[in-house]
Amino acid sequence: MWPQKVKEEALVACGRRCCVCHRFCGRNIELHHIEMESKGGKSIFENCIPLCFDCHADAGHYNSNHPKGTRYSQSELRKHRDSWYQAIQRLSFLEHQWEGSSDKQTKEIYEDQIVTLKGFVWREAFPGPPNYESFETDRVETYWMLVLPEPISLFANSFETEETIKIENIKKLQLCVNPDFYEANRNIVRTDVELTGKLFMSITGHHHGDANFDIRTDLLNKSINFAPSALDALTRADY
Ligand SMILES: [Zn+2]
Repeated sequence: MWPQKVKEEALVACGRRCCVCHRFCGRNIELHHIEMESKGGKSIFENCIPLCFDCHADAGHYNSNHPKGTRYSQSELRKHRDSWYQAIQRLSFLEHQWEGSSDKQTKEIYEDQIVTLKGFVWREAFPGPPNYESFETDRVETYWMLVLPEPISLFANSFETEETIKIENIKKLQLCVNPDFYEANRNIVRTDVELTGKLFMSITGHHHGDANFDIRTDLLNKSINFAPSALDALTRADY
């Protein structure tokens, strides 16, 4: 049994998301002993990794004589957990910043304007077809989101009235890129980047951000700046 304090700290640290597959679990999350209890593993924060049911089974707790696949080693599990806790910490840091930014003048952007924005790239899972409702019954779709350090506003043309409308408090952008981009740029997930492209408003059920960010792949080499941003330096200090 996990002491209540360890349980709470671990669940907050992971944001109730699985440390291996990163899906949001809500109640369906379990705490796994990295070093098994039967082998002397202690019920302490350091020996704990929150996992979804599937990953927990894969981690060997339930199927100790797994005939197929590659077993998770203890050090691998620790690495998964530590990098995941760090990402969640980065996100909550940004959320914290949003609160303090309400009295500042927000950046205003127009659709069709080419802009360069800094943010934290975050891979997020959503329920997909057929019903777009539940992780249990629907297929899971994952998208890359850019989490902004400060909310921005977008002026966009309404499809219904053709009037220009102002969408405020945009904090999370869904990145619109082609499959090649994902393949070639996996290393930007869970890092701070600067990306260039155009914003457009969310219209369909496939759009999960406050707005969409269409990364200009024709500007690809110019559009990505992997250099650590000022933002990055800021959080490192905060850790
Ligand atoms: Zn999982």
